[in-house]
Amino acid sequence: MKTDNSRALFEQAQAFIPGGVNSPVRAFKSVGGTPLFIKRAEGAYVYDEDDNQYIELINSWGPMILGHKHPKIEQAVLNAVQNSLSFGAPTQREITIAELIVSMVPSIEKVRMVNSGTEATMSAIRVARGYTGRDKFIKIEGCYHGHGDSFLIAAGSGAVTMGTPDSPGVTKGTAKDTLLAPFNDLEAMRKVVENNKDEVAAIIIEPVAGNMGCVLPKEGYLEGLRELCDEHGIVLIFDEVMTGFRLAPGGAQERFGVTPDMTTLGKIIGGGMPVGAYGGKKEIMDYVSPAGPVYQAGTLSGNPISMAAGLTMLSLLNENPEVYTSLDEKGAYLREGYEKSLKDLGLNYTINSVGSMNTLFFTDKEVHNFEDAKTSNLELFRKYFHAMLDRGIYLGPSQFESLFLSTALIDNDLDRIIKANHESLKEIH
Ligand code: PLP
Repeated sequence: MKTDNSRALFEQAQAFIPGGVNSPVRAFKSVGGTPLFIKRAEGAYVYDEDDNQYIELINSWGPMILGHKHPKIEQAVLNAVQNSLSFGAPTQREITIAELIVSMVPSIEKVRMVNSGTEATMSAIRVARGYTGRDKFIKIEGCYHGHGDSFLIAAGSGAVTMGTPDSPGVTKGTAKDTLLAPFNDLEAMRKVVENNKDEVAAIIIEPVAGNMGCVLPKEGYLEGLRELCDEHGIVLIFDEVMTGFRLAPGGAQERFGVTPDMTTLGKIIGGGMPVGAYGGKKEIMDYVSPAGPVYQAGTLSGNPISMAAGLTMLSLLNENPEVYTSLDEKGAYLREGYEKSLKDLGLNYTINSVGSMNTLFFTDKEVHNFEDAKTSNLELFRKYFHAMLDRGIYLGPSQFESLFLSTALIDNDLDRIIKANHESLKEIH
């Protein structure tokens, strides 16, 4: 495919924007090559600046569940724009969307809008700390919760679970309050909790991880976390920035039947506009200012355009539960196609999938946590990514991402993806 225009734009961008992009993963660093500069998108397809068409499996990292340019969402935004872009004052639509979120997400009794997933998780941790009067929290190795300082923490040595800064600029002082445990390991989690008795405010987790590739919770794991938190007065936070409204109307917590105390939401509730939110039990959320003492604010929070897009998107999902059957069917069809190719080609790689999320790992090991995910052959992924791109399939440019399906994909698209996957696997071996 000709990508001269993207190449020229990337050159130009690097002169004015650090690394040429406004969010690191977009630079294709882990797969090499030139990032595609996108001009427009429609339904299940994106078009780059060289006018190549690709089947879209990133979907803005999750939110475009209904595909691009859904006519109702587009119209809602156009209507809202006519009343001005921002007021910094309360609006009726904020109540409607809050009510809808409360009715859809099992754990949420009250909700506060913010502008990104990062803000949502930062704020949720602050509220959990304020509510419990404790400083530490536990995060799971390989889960991503945005770029707040206290989340940019790497695992320390095996013996100590206390983290170390994972980016220059994050202080050791911050890192000392973030503890780490591996995904799917209740025993390890129990030890961290017991070693820090009465000091842990929260456990935060992606209930289905999307940021080490797609990794599912083992049976009983989320239930075990729930029990542990109840036993120790710890606030259980599900970060459903990716899974919320995607795996079920009420997110992973509905799908897996485990209700946390708080939930963080992100891009999905903006239907593609910048939004985040955090919510939970009334008694916890009433700690948030001005109802309570924990300060959190935002000039553009509840922005009328984002609320219009989000409300329309969530209403469509709420009123059309068949969306979820369709997403699950598409996910299962894709998985079946991938499995057949692996079998036909005599390859023994691991596929993790749930509903419309899916990751092919280039390892024959089962993938239940970040250590397992890291056994994937990244050089093979790099080749596979480009082989798929050459065939018009736009995947997340990292092994440690999930692909996201939208309802806009038709059978023919899925067959094209399956064929491209088969040919790509063949080409790289
Ligand atoms: N939490 C999860 C699970 C995410 O996947 C992300 C981003 O991908 C975030 C939080 C951060 O959201 P944002 O990029 O909107 O700040």
